[in-house]
Amino acid sequence: MNIHAYYPIDVVNGPGTRCTLFVSGCEHRCRGCYNPRTWRLDSGQPFTLALEEQLIADLNDTKVPRRGLSISGGDPMHPDNVPHVRRLLHRVRRCCPGKDIWLWTGYQWETLSEAQQTVIALVDVLIDGPFIREEYDPQLRWRGSKNQRILKTAELGQRKDLFTTIPAAS
Ligand code: SF4
Repeated sequence: MNIHAYYPIDVVNGPGTRCTLFVSGCEHRCRGCYNPRTWRLDSGQPFTLALEEQLIADLNDTKVPRRGLSISGGDPMHPDNVPHVRRLLHRVRRCCPGKDIWLWTGYQWETLSEAQQTVIALVDVLIDGPFIREEYDPQLRWRGSKNQRILKTAELGQRKDLFTTIPAAS
């Protein structure tokens, strides 16, 4: 898996102070995409074991406590990224207790494959859906367009028909 960027300290992508990873590869090609350079799977740089070790150490750093990990892109749910992201998130769950995981994808939750759902099972909050330029609203927090939803995954299994959306201002 390739990545475009890793921010060891980030206060923009999700609540609190976080580590944020932007992976390469996205097949949605949204009009008005904020970063088309991330579309190609082979763009960016390889996600190395050394970088993974750094990410785990950063999440456990007590000098600058991190609330959790944000993983975005590109699209972490691109089918080619799924096994790599699942392995990484399993490790974060195992080695970084108490940290939350937020994940951004251009797919809608209802359309995710079984393989993609196994990744979502490791995530606390999912921001789903493509960026739609006509729905763009600069007031929105943690998402770019109104069609995108901020979903607490713990509640998705029980209420598949009704999604829990965190208000934009929260
Ligand atoms: S899902 Fe995100 S990265 Fe992919 S094309 Fe849409 S806005 Fe760009």
